[in-house]
Amino acid sequence: MSGGLDSTSLALYMLSQGYEIRAYGFNYGQKHDVELSLVKKNIAYLQSKGYPITHQTIDLRDAFSDSSSSLHKGGDTIPEGDYRDETMKSTVVENRNIIFSSIIYGKALAWANKTQSDVVITLGLHAGDHTIYPDCRPESQEMARELFRISNWGSERVDYIAPFIKIDKGTVLKKGIESCEKLGIDWKVIYSNTISCYNPDELGRSCGKCGTCVERIEAFEKLGLKDPIAYQDTPEVEHEFVLRFFNSKNEEMGTSEILVKSNITDKEVAFNTLPFCDPFVREAKERLYNSHSIRQEIVQVGVTGLADDKFGCLLVALI
Ligand SMILES: [Zn+2]
Repeated sequence: MSGGLDSTSLALYMLSQGYEIRAYGFNYGQKHDVELSLVKKNIAYLQSKGYPITHQTIDLRDAFSDSSSSLHKGGDTIPEGDYRDETMKSTVVENRNIIFSSIIYGKALAWANKTQSDVVITLGLHAGDHTIYPDCRPESQEMARELFRISNWGSERVDYIAPFIKIDKGTVLKKGIESCEKLGIDWKVIYSNTISCYNPDELGRSCGKCGTCVERIEAFEKLGLKDPIAYQDTPEVEHEFVLRFFNSKNEEMGTSEILVKSNITDKEVAFNTLPFCDPFVREAKERLYNSHSIRQEIVQVGVTGLADDKFGCLLVALI
């Protein structure tokens, strides 16, 4: 369970089928290692709701230290564009899924022996992965299943399947959301703790441009839902910037007042006091108007004087 949309949906689906889950994630030196901390949030959330799930992160950084994949910290820049583009081949990590699966198969055998129960290994592969990633294709999964079976005593207790291998990401998401409903948990909480982006910024926000972001955005659009995570350069981010900007000015300069009202985030955002001077007002206005996504929705930016003798203003931006 990586912290992405596919493996999270799969875990929800298996929980909704009544399984007890031992999930595994891998630190292989990926640039997007923010996923490793996000997955813990979902595990804690599911456990708080009483569901039987544990998670372990396995450190494989040494095993992948020579990787030249663009996903790896030692690799090239991550390409932007459609997931199916030829350029996306640089995101393949050498033999990744077979290495992961092999380790998990060992875990599953040990667990089956210890508990004397049957174990099913489920992989979060889906149809959108097939073009670029050979180790996500049905023939790879089927042959690996056979290889593991003939290579081990006790393998009759362990199955190795990929329930989503024939469906696209939109349908995977739909199954995840339906599973949340069945489990009585909030899908927005769950999916706000996931990330698909290969190239998030230092605040953990998705780029919205890499192949996996494009695919994720399409999946939510297909279901007519709004993705609950933050993307760089979106109205929410712009809005957040404006607030941060005002707050820092507030600290710097003293008292005045601003109201930023937004119907985009459903949050009525506070009155913050700060004094303005003309350059600041110009900068703030410019910033608001330059934000292409919200430009049309600003109905008023007003300036007024303060009660005391200082020059100042009240900026009201109705977004
Ligand atoms: Zn991205």
